[in-house]
Amino acid sequence: MHIGFLGLGNMGSPMASNLLKAGYQLSVFDLSSNAVAELAEKGAQACASVQALVAAAPDVLISMLPAAVHVKGVYLGSEGLIEQLSKPTFLIDCSTIDPHSAREVAKAAQEAGHRMLDAPVSGGTTGAQAATLTFMVGGSADDLQYAQPILQAMGKNITHCGDSGNGQVAKVANNMLLGISMVGVAEAMALGVALGMDAKVLAGIINTSSGRCWSSEINNPYPDVLENAPASRGYSGGFGSDLMLKDLGLATEAARLSKQPVMLGAAAQQLYQAFSLQGHGSLDFSAIIKLYLKE
Ligand code: NAD
Repeated sequence: MHIGFLGLGNMGSPMASNLLKAGYQLSVFDLSSNAVAELAEKGAQACASVQALVAAAPDVLISMLPAAVHVKGVYLGSEGLIEQLSKPTFLIDCSTIDPHSAREVAKAAQEAGHRMLDAPVSGGTTGAQAATLTFMVGGSADDLQYAQPILQAMGKNITHCGDSGNGQVAKVANNMLLGISMVGVAEAMALGVALGMDAKVLAGIINTSSGRCWSSEINNPYPDVLENAPASRGYSGGFGSDLMLKDLGLATEAARLSKQPVMLGAAAQQLYQAFSLQGHGSLDFSAIIKLYLKE
């Protein structure tokens, strides 16, 4: 099977590498020629443009792009992939975008005779490298069955979330909760320490009590509580605050369009917006605790 891959950034590059390792024939394109060259060295066919990728006529085309504006730009319109592909092609968009845009693109693809899944991921760059990503998949069950071996070459947990766009729904709901829970843990840890508790003892109590969550147990924001967490290395690596801000923006925008209240999601979005304005957007999102600590 011949796969085309578009978007070879922090996530796309290791995902594409894992498809090569699994033995798929691969053609790749990215705006960065360096990213394309790296994959070509590993055995992929380098394409110099979207048109060249179309001309390579892959059976399956996977995209891993920054945001909805890029996904719509690449797929839609007279110059877009959906119009340009000369044969029915199986499309998988793994980018994190809003559910409304995902449904718009999938509808256009289906009307043009292509099959399409939205399959955003969680697991970060580590999961992308180790092929242990979680895929949240929107589209038909038959289409997921077809794509299953391809997704398995890049990930471990693959869940069908329902019709087109529902993969994105799962992703925005989960990441909104993650943003809220991180702010909550930061607030609780900072309060406890300000009132005289030792941070490690407090984290231990929380992690064996009802406040326990991923943000307290795996990525505790208080410095030196967890040896391997970003908080213990100056908040480097991990999941950037600006990426969390993007995902909270997707959640609040999706909520606005469906008139669904997200009071805490909106509050978390504003906190990350203020944090980004202060120049901290590249720090791991647990660094939000800086809003609660004295310098
Ligand atoms: P990135 O910015 O590192 O990579 C995006 C790539 O897309 C870049 O190489 C860029 O050159 C390329 N690109 C942009 N427009 C293009 C176009 N028109 N044609 C071809 N290539 C184009 O981003 P990333 O970290 O790889 O994230 C990709 C997606 O995955 C985002 O939607 C992000 O929200 C999501 N995501 C990221 C993480 C993470 O930890 N980085 C985790 C889960 C999900």
